Amino acid sequence: MEKLNVLTILVLTALNLSTVSVALLLIMGQGISRAARLAQFSLLSQTLGWVAIIASGFAFGHWLDPVLSTMAMVMASVANYLMFLALQAWLGPRRNQRALLALLILMPIGYALSFENYSLRVGYANLLFAIQLTIVAQAALGPRQPASLRWRALVALCYGAVACASLARGVLGAFYPELYPTFDAPHPVNVAAQLTANLALVLTTVAVLVAWREEAEGQLREQAFTDNLTGLLNRHGWDDRAPALFDQARRHRTPLALIMLDLDHFKRINDTQGHEVGDQVLRMVGKVLQSNRRSSDLAARIGGEEFALLLPQTDKRAALHVEQRLRLALLEEGIQQPTLRVGYSAGLALLKPNDQKLTDFMVRADTALYQAKAQGRGRLLQAD
Ligand code: GH3
Ligand code: MG
Ligand code: MG
Repeated sequence: MEKLNVLTILVLTALNLSTVSVALLLIMGQGISRAARLAQFSLLSQTLGWVAIIASGFAFGHWLDPVLSTMAMVMASVANYLMFLALQAWLGPRRNQRALLALLILMPIGYALSFENYSLRVGYANLLFAIQLTIVAQAALGPRQPASLRWRALVALCYGAVACASLARGVLGAFYPELYPTFDAPHPVNVAAQLTANLALVLTTVAVLVAWREEAEGQLREQAFTDNLTGLLNRHGWDDRAPALFDQARRHRTPLALIMLDLDHFKRINDTQGHEVGDQVLRMVGKVLQSNRRSSDLAARIGGEEFALLLPQTDKRAALHVEQRLRLALLEEGIQQPTLRVGYSAGLALLKPNDQKLTDFMVRADTALYQAKAQGRGRLLQAD
């Protein structure tokens, strides 16, 4: 272990990290998410941190030494904070953001103040790093999110390992300064810590790339489930989401309402005003459905000019209310833009114990819709 030269590993770490950071910037290109961008900047900031450490070694005894070392502590702390923000952007709110920010601010203050006291400075900086890294590791594992566990576990493992390495370095510097008189001292703990940092950066890069791929997959799925004319769910998205709501309502015996809508004489709009106006009407209906639904409701365009609304926790009275509001909103749109005026017929079904499958439920709503058409359109009928 002692034959391994810490400075060499350190230079390799900085070299690897800078290569990887630049490579990621080039590979991932321009149009990436905030989360991916933050992760990239985290790696860049980490690179600058290691470079500043190396440079400070060459400036030993010079006034530049404290400046460069303090800068290194700041860049490394910023890197940890940026990785935390990246995780938050990927996974939703994480705990301890304020604590991490406080540690980022405290780092240069305490470090600069204790610069003349080697044991205090090294113990302090490494302890703060260990806490920062633990917070990031914990953020990766944090509760309930759709992202896969594998890349998150990898991030947690890397940051956890480097946290342990920092702690070990801190103990060495604080209590056995003669064994660790400089940052490149050939002590086995120091060598192991530097190797860990190097491995961690390789694996963190892998994790970032996997997170990025997963994010792209999610976006593709989202796109495949979205109707690009109205922005509502398309049939595919409906088939993916609606069964879960249906099963949930059945299992918990909570009310569930389904409203199927079909625009009245829509073909006429196309025929007399053109397909483009027809499309505008569909977009307008989509907007009205979107803005009148609760976040738990599903609104989908399941056919050309047919829409479905699935309303959890909604009984008959509430469902009729929703439908009235919808009809009114559409009426108002028609007054504001007379070319887009359109009405609809609708069928309402309320979940019954003998609805075994979503399709049974949809057939009932559809039959009611068909009857509404037969009775003269422009109305809502309830199934059965
Ligand atoms: P009804 O009151 O009986 O429902 O009459 P309708 O004219 O609405 O019914 P029909 O099913 O005969 O016509 C639906 C029309 O919707 C036919 C089709 O050309 C049109 N359509 C379907 N998808 C689109 C679309 O994406 N854009 C436009 N502009 N029209 C569409
Ligand atoms: Mg139709
Ligand atoms: Mg129609």
